[in-house]
Amino acid sequence: MTHLDADVLVIGAGGAGMYAAIAAARAGAERVLLLDKSLVGRGGATVMAQMTVAAALAEESPDDCTLHLADTLAAGRGLCDETLAEVLCCEAPERIREMGEWQVGWARRDNGRIAQVAAPGHSRPRCCYVDFLNTGPAVAATLRRRVGRTEAIRRIGNLTATDLVVADGAVVGAVALDSAAGEPVTIAATATIIATGGLTRIYRRNSASANMGGDGYALALAAGAELVDMEFVQFFPIGHLAPRLVGMDPIMWDPFRYKLGGRLLDGAGREFLAAYGSDETTRYTTSRDLATYAITKEVAAGRGSPHGGVYLSFEHIPPGELEAAFGPVIDRLAQNGIDLARAPVEVAPIAHYQMGGIAVDARMATAVPGLYAAGEAVGGANGANRLSGNAIPEALVFGERAGRFAAAAAKLDRPNWRAGAAVEAIERIRALRDGRAGDLSAAVLLDELRGLMWDCVGPLRDTAGLDCALSRLAEMRAALPQLAVAPGPAANPSLADWFELRGSLVAAEAVAQAAAARRESRGAHQREEFPDSDPGLARSQRVTMTAAGVIVASLAA
Ligand SMILES: Cc1cc2nc3c(=O)[nH]c(=O)nc-3n(C[C@H](O)[C@H](O)[C@H](O)COP(=O)(O)OP(=O)(O)OC[C@H]3O[C@@H](n4cnc5c(N)ncnc54)[C@H](O)[C@@H]3O)c2cc1C
Repeated sequence: MTHLDADVLVIGAGGAGMYAAIAAARAGAERVLLLDKSLVGRGGATVMAQMTVAAALAEESPDDCTLHLADTLAAGRGLCDETLAEVLCCEAPERIREMGEWQVGWARRDNGRIAQVAAPGHSRPRCCYVDFLNTGPAVAATLRRRVGRTEAIRRIGNLTATDLVVADGAVVGAVALDSAAGEPVTIAATATIIATGGLTRIYRRNSASANMGGDGYALALAAGAELVDMEFVQFFPIGHLAPRLVGMDPIMWDPFRYKLGGRLLDGAGREFLAAYGSDETTRYTTSRDLATYAITKEVAAGRGSPHGGVYLSFEHIPPGELEAAFGPVIDRLAQNGIDLARAPVEVAPIAHYQMGGIAVDARMATAVPGLYAAGEAVGGANGANRLSGNAIPEALVFGERAGRFAAAAAKLDRPNWRAGAAVEAIERIRALRDGRAGDLSAAVLLDELRGLMWDCVGPLRDTAGLDCALSRLAEMRAALPQLAVAPGPAANPSLADWFELRGSLVAAEAVAQAAAARRESRGAHQREEFPDSDPGLARSQRVTMTAAGVIVASLAA
């Protein structure tokens, strides 16, 4: 069996993981291991992100990170971890400029200054970009190049971390599944960073890649770490719904709404946002939580569009202006039979980002010795609602910190690997690889899980739905040991599905438990029976796992 040793192990190679690996090497770690269940730098959300990155660079107008912080705290509806939010806002400019030095190619004005545009919730033009559809790929490519040039970093793809190895209360490494060979791999590490991204893949309608099923939250909980703010899942309000769109991202409409002020209309063609407290007129200013709530309510009241969303219309914009703003995108839309000058499209909320996540301090350290987290896997910085453009800087800033502090800790600590502590995880992989007969497969339950989360723990929640979700999730968890797995070691999809279901069930239960426990509405968490925010509940919830594997949510004191 393959065994690897590392000073710093980074699990997940998106923006946060790659930056963490670079920073760990820069801080003196000589053996940095960067692994990913996909190809390094090509899985997860970073490579999919299209648009903008928020940082108080003050290139277009006076700005300061304290102003960015004030906007972030306001958007977070009173729940941001202010220390983490301050780190995010005040270190974003340094990371963005460093990415510029690494040739990411930020768009610039004619005067050579980095272009910064407005976005809802930001009090000034603060969001930079490479181009409106390629910012994420450019960020990922830049970090991949940098990682590739850093000798201390060893990269391994197709390796799924299935368990953290805990000895004497500390994380001492991990067990992973080599998906190509179907073999377990053990990794001893002095410090381990979880950078596995978010969980939006646990929802039927999502903007996620295949690898965003919440593995990192499950790994952290099982190792004894806490999660925070798990009830706050961000639904992107205007995900594309109809007509069918091939070869384009479902969240592509946002930058065009910024630029042109596309109008949101109910099924009868009436504007409705104002009825929900939006002050939007011609500019696009409504926050994501409010727009999601308004659209969901309109549809529930029977005022939606034919496919169960609302209309997004650009028909009031002269065709010349549309062509100038959309550029080549207008041709791609035409190939999909969409002519924005003549008809609206249908849009509806889509699960997009997880505000909650692993609880860390400002060093990105969890309460479990040896365990760090970075990027979307971390909770708290964005509270109950995230500002657009805050997630990529979060990945870069928290990644840099996690790598730097983990490397410093690894220098002081000694490796403490215990092969015995990894046996159960290794045996689990071997047993599953040999196959198991059964009537039900993980793939079937994954499908059911996504529908259940959408229907019962989606943008609008009520007690009956949450109770129903929790009892069905518990049944699914109980069924895990009996699920059918096809035999065969190499690239066995049913083995991968089993592990994905195991992680996604934990992530789903954490969200549902926290949602059930928060008996108010706030930001992205909306409860039918408790429509208002309760000032007495302006506190974060912690989620933990008991020795029996049960997930518990409780309000912090
Ligand atoms: C379509 C889309 C558009 C977006 N647009 C923007 C935007 O314009 N601006 C913005 O600020 N934010 C945007 N976001 C959000 C932002 O992209 C993410 O929050 C951010 O990139 C997360 O980075 P990360 O490194 O934490 O996670 P990711 O980039 O998701 O990387 C996580 C990595 O972990 C790997 N992984 C997961 N589980 C395991 C495991 N068990 N073992 C090994 N590896 C594992 C995955 O394969 C993946 O490569 C967008 C998100 C999406 C989905």
